[in-house]
Amino acid sequence: MNLCNPSVVRALMAEEGITFRKEFGQNFLIDFTVPERIADSCADREDVLILEIGPGIGCLTKELALRYSRVVAIEIDNGLIPILERTMAEFDNVRVVHGDVMEIDLAALITEEAQGREVAVCANLPYYITTPILMRLLECGVRFSSITVMVQNEVAARLAAAPGKGDYGAITAVLGYHGTVKKLFTVPAGCFMPAPKVSSAVVRMDLYRENPHHPKDEHFFFSVIRAAFGMRRKTLCNALAVLGGFDKEGIAVAIEECGFPADVRGERLSTADFVRLSNALLEKKNI
Ligand code: SAM
Repeated sequence: MNLCNPSVVRALMAEEGITFRKEFGQNFLIDFTVPERIADSCADREDVLILEIGPGIGCLTKELALRYSRVVAIEIDNGLIPILERTMAEFDNVRVVHGDVMEIDLAALITEEAQGREVAVCANLPYYITTPILMRLLECGVRFSSITVMVQNEVAARLAAAPGKGDYGAITAVLGYHGTVKKLFTVPAGCFMPAPKVSSAVVRMDLYRENPHHPKDEHFFFSVIRAAFGMRRKTLCNALAVLGGFDKEGIAVAIEECGFPADVRGERLSTADFVRLSNALLEKKNI
């Protein structure tokens, strides 16, 4: 069964009496070369567990099942579950879980399924919730080897931006703490049904096995990034004034000690720069 054929997609959904649910970000792939390319690029070895988020009717799930030893796919829409049971019936290495990726206990699910394997994430993400899903994956306590996701093109540009570029933002600096990000390829809107208004892109994040960044206080380090980008048009010194416990002079001294110009803005700082700055700031804290 060609799960990327629009007639097949429509027929499967009609048989279950369901339609596309916009609130779940349902734009299904209808160009079979795209799930093939995503599946090819999301892991470097066959013996891995792939966590897929939002399998839809299973077009990407099938390509993952053909390439990797085990696939667990979490789908929120209960109307799609009977379809997935049919389309995945030929694969004994796929488990479909009905649930919300934002609520499921991912650590427990992965421990149960991984059986010692490396775990990689692969997904054509629902666009309404891209950043919360990425943050959840990074904070759920599972050490993924990589995360490969299709997102809106402009989000992809943000995720993979270099410091100082217009697209660089808090999420870029946060991802830089966890690993390296690369934009792989773009996907035109016409490859989806229904077609979204914008084009998409696939990005892959390779997560550090040994994190090279060592903030003295991780929680504070993330607060500094959030504050730095909270008011983008302000200088870093002014933007960081929202952090409690510092006077402006202390902030200015910390910025100077790190070797940044006094009027620097947050978007010029790399992840490593934010680590240095947050460590320097901690020494200036007024307690
Ligand atoms: N993988 C399919 C494809 O590429 O054609 C469908 C991708 S579609 C962009 C996003 C999928 O994520 C939909 O199947 C949607 O129901 C599902 N989804 C949306 N929110 C979700 C959530 N919070 N947890 C799990 N799945 C979700």
